Amino acid sequence: MTDDAVPSTGANRFSGPNDLHLHSNHSDGTESPAEVVRQAHAHGIRTLALTDHDRSTGWDEASKAAASLGVTFLPGMELSAKYEWRSVHVLGYLFAPDDEALRAETDRIRNDRIGRAERIVRNIGRDYDLVWDDVVAQTAGDATVGRPHIADALIARGIVRDRGEAFDGILHPREGYYEPHYAPDPLSAVNLITRAGGVAVIAHPVTTGRDRMMPIAFIERLIDAGLGGFEIDHRENTEQGKKILRDVALKHDLIVTGSSDYHGAGKPNLPGENTTSDAMVARIIDRATGTDPRYA
Ligand code: AMP
Ligand code: FE
Ligand code: FE
Ligand code: ZN
Repeated sequence: MTDDAVPSTGANRFSGPNDLHLHSNHSDGTESPAEVVRQAHAHGIRTLALTDHDRSTGWDEASKAAASLGVTFLPGMELSAKYEWRSVHVLGYLFAPDDEALRAETDRIRNDRIGRAERIVRNIGRDYDLVWDDVVAQTAGDATVGRPHIADALIARGIVRDRGEAFDGILHPREGYYEPHYAPDPLSAVNLITRAGGVAVIAHPVTTGRDRMMPIAFIERLIDAGLGGFEIDHRENTEQGKKILRDVALKHDLIVTGSSDYHGAGKPNLPGENTTSDAMVARIIDRATGTDPRYA
């Protein structure tokens, strides 16, 4: 990296390529936090964020692995939220992990996800040979349980070939087995992350197959509440949606990121397939007050 590409603030001693959205088996990735860091490093990543769903327990392991590989580590999380019926994911970076309000909310979400997954399995069990223990067998320790773990149980039972087939079929709401889980509305999610000193970025805000994006008027309320930015470069965002949100980001001087959303073997996404500029990483670091980056 040349000198003028290095972020100007003294505190920002990282270097790219930067990938700010990766999952471990503390949620629905298939690898340990240390393995995720090794994979990212092997794909040329020099600064990464671990963003498990509703959980920050992977930070220590990832941080140690990153230090040993000369990779800068940014603590993160992907907080589940909901706008009407639409699932909205809010990435939080560099928030204080011991923040009471945020902790209480992630506990609530994670607990509700368990009962919800059991209900989905019970529904599926009416038509397929699947029981809750199959899902437990696919879930590492206290991982945030989700449909991906049910998908893995369906694979182990030989009912589907991979997660993609499970999500296109049995796990899709149209099939009738789906159950929702508790999640805060996006405004609360942004507030929780921001008040914990973190930077909130809407993950994959304009995906194709799933649902339409949140109305711009509502997104502007999120911005007023302290939303940091949007994850624009993500394989599931539509080109048209990216354009719209880039304009919104420009208008409000927001952060824009790009990331892989790596899930190990659980998705085809690979570390570094989308990246975030050094300048945008610097803005995240400058804005956050909850916890420090772990520089290599
Ligand atoms: P849940 O939050 O339990 O409803 O499950 C949603 C999670 O499933 C998301 O975090 C995605 O990572 C994952 N997911 C969604 N679609 C797919 C897919 N087609 N293949 C693999 N994983 C998927
Ligand atoms: Fe996921
Ligand atoms: Fe997501
Ligand atoms: Zn994700």
